[in-house]
Amino acid sequence: MNAAQVARSTCPYCGVGCGVTANVSADAVTLAGDITHPANFGRLCSKGAALADTLDHEGRLLYPLANGVRISWDEALDRVAHGFEKIIAEHGTDAVAFYVSGQLLTEDYYVANKLMKGFIGSANIDTNSRLCMSSAVAAQKRAFGADAVPVCYEDVEMADLVVLAGSNYAWAHPVLYQRLAAAKKARPEMRVVVIDPRRTATCDIADLHLAIAPGADAFLFNGLLHHLRREDAIDLGYVEAHVESFAGAFEAARAAGSIPKVAQVCGLAESDLSEFFRLFAKTERTVTVFSQGINQSSSGVDKGNAIINVHLATGRVGKAGMGPFSVTGQPNAMGGREVGGLANQLAAHLDFSDAASIDLVGRFWKAAGIARKPGLKAVEMFHAIASGKIKAVWIMGTNPVVSMPDADSVRAALMDCELVVVSDCMRHTDTTACADILLPATGWGEKDGTVTNSERRISRQRAFMPAAGEARPDWWIITQIAQRMGFAEAFPYTQPAQIFREHARLSGFENAGTRAFDISALADLGDADYDALQPVQWPVNSQAPQGTQRLFVDGRFYTPSGKARMTTVSPHLPAVAVDDNFPLVLNTGRIRDQWHTMTRTGKVPRLNAHQIEPFVQVQASDAQLCRLQDGALARLTSRDGTMLARVQVSDDQRPGSVFVPMHWNDGFAKLARVDALVAPITDPISGQPESKHTPVRVETY
Ligand code: SF4
Repeated sequence: MNAAQVARSTCPYCGVGCGVTANVSADAVTLAGDITHPANFGRLCSKGAALADTLDHEGRLLYPLANGVRISWDEALDRVAHGFEKIIAEHGTDAVAFYVSGQLLTEDYYVANKLMKGFIGSANIDTNSRLCMSSAVAAQKRAFGADAVPVCYEDVEMADLVVLAGSNYAWAHPVLYQRLAAAKKARPEMRVVVIDPRRTATCDIADLHLAIAPGADAFLFNGLLHHLRREDAIDLGYVEAHVESFAGAFEAARAAGSIPKVAQVCGLAESDLSEFFRLFAKTERTVTVFSQGINQSSSGVDKGNAIINVHLATGRVGKAGMGPFSVTGQPNAMGGREVGGLANQLAAHLDFSDAASIDLVGRFWKAAGIARKPGLKAVEMFHAIASGKIKAVWIMGTNPVVSMPDADSVRAALMDCELVVVSDCMRHTDTTACADILLPATGWGEKDGTVTNSERRISRQRAFMPAAGEARPDWWIITQIAQRMGFAEAFPYTQPAQIFREHARLSGFENAGTRAFDISALADLGDADYDALQPVQWPVNSQAPQGTQRLFVDGRFYTPSGKARMTTVSPHLPAVAVDDNFPLVLNTGRIRDQWHTMTRTGKVPRLNAHQIEPFVQVQASDAQLCRLQDGALARLTSRDGTMLARVQVSDDQRPGSVFVPMHWNDGFAKLARVDALVAPITDPISGQPESKHTPVRVETY
């Protein structure tokens, strides 16, 4: 790129997908929010605003390493390819796995998925997005027949009632929060309700905060559905015309009972619950935003469907200012879903549920040996590594030794695994310490490709600086391995635009309007057009060549009947209850100024200044019971592990619950990883872990 030019890219952190402009001069890179990008219109949060401070090469992985010794790219690629081939020859295709990331670009993700599912012939590729929104994916698929988010960001601004369920919007999706706060300021009559056991920064703009008992969300939304029916607030015309399977859902909701009963199960004041139900019943323009507080649960899929049910029952889907809205955590969690990054998915929003879908993808790829059954989901995958069933794993752009539940067991499994390959930008992480072979990947600002944000908007990430050391793009590394494994014909890629065109062609291949994800109008983009691609929301096809702001406006869904489905939700509380030994519920989540395991944001002093060390927030009455002093060091213990954290006594906590951020790692200190405490309990449908509800005890250290 000419140094005088301004590059437009997309922030690499959260699923808001803010546009960023990079102004590169001879001696500096200046970054700013992109005022032309429809996700943020120039806004950035603290993390995005500090991106320029993360671009140096300090801590980067600069060349390939084998057991800590520098080797050439040729040798590294040969070793990985031959290592995987040997294990496949000796133990079969299911003895190998890829664990990838919502940080990868869509092009990287596409090639990784094609190699594992299409040509190695196993579906053992899963992603850290499993920990983030896989429950919402399954809920949307059950309700709409497709993993499709109906709404757009503008809908949240247009709504008269915004319900934020299990979402600390202010810290986890800060620019969307800024947009919501601005909309509420402009229209003070807008109402905001926050449903969260904690009082978070998001509550600053809330008219009502429901500090719900941890895990009780489906009871609350079933209770709401029952209330809507009793109050004649159901849109019977819409339900009759566009919804099926509603009888079971209404029947299950009836079991929720009256407001006093729902309030008791949810640990809420009857008056607060009544007020919420009243607001919801009378406010047509309602958006319900839901996030990890809903998804990270042993019943996360049901919770998502309980939310979607109330929108379908009131006909509040596919209309301006209305709809259920799952906001994703990572910058490309949705792009990963588009290419089949989850072990139970195929590319192009197809899956393993029918032979025709498998054959379609196999024909398109000319992959006779395509996998024919789902692979292992993240928690199952690491269990299979621990048991020796999986003997080789390639981890790309993620740090599971910090972020997976039962993180100590994940580390032990990797240390014992026959072959661990890690591609990453950073040299020293808790996971790279377990690797046999390290492959240096290009980082943000050095790589080219696309990402899809929470409103289905595809945006370009663009390179505006040279690669660090010998780092290479992930798609290039995977392509080189595929070629060395004998699949050169299917992996001819020399640039990301080629991969994007193939991905777009597959989305439209034999797609007679039956699949939501369709970007076939972009299949013939020339290289220059790909480079200049403007942010656009899928579907982008012959019916909608400029993209699609809102889905289901015609009341047609992607089910065989064309009707949406309400789900019979029988709520249950979290899998493991507190007891005398572990009397408090541990909730995990993000803080404002850190991202994931801090490998990038941890480099920035002003971001570190927000919270300088791991902490545990404890309600005052619990602190008294546990004899914890504010500012003291505490040991937290669960059935699975232990950690140390500084006590913060705070009445923002609900009694009986404590909160610890998810970010810290062994680079900061030993015993700093909260996921060492979290049990590997998952939703039976989505496989998403129950990261919001771990019984623990907290003692002065
Ligand atoms: Fe980046 Fe998310 Fe902040 Fe936007 S809101 S600047 S995408 S971290």
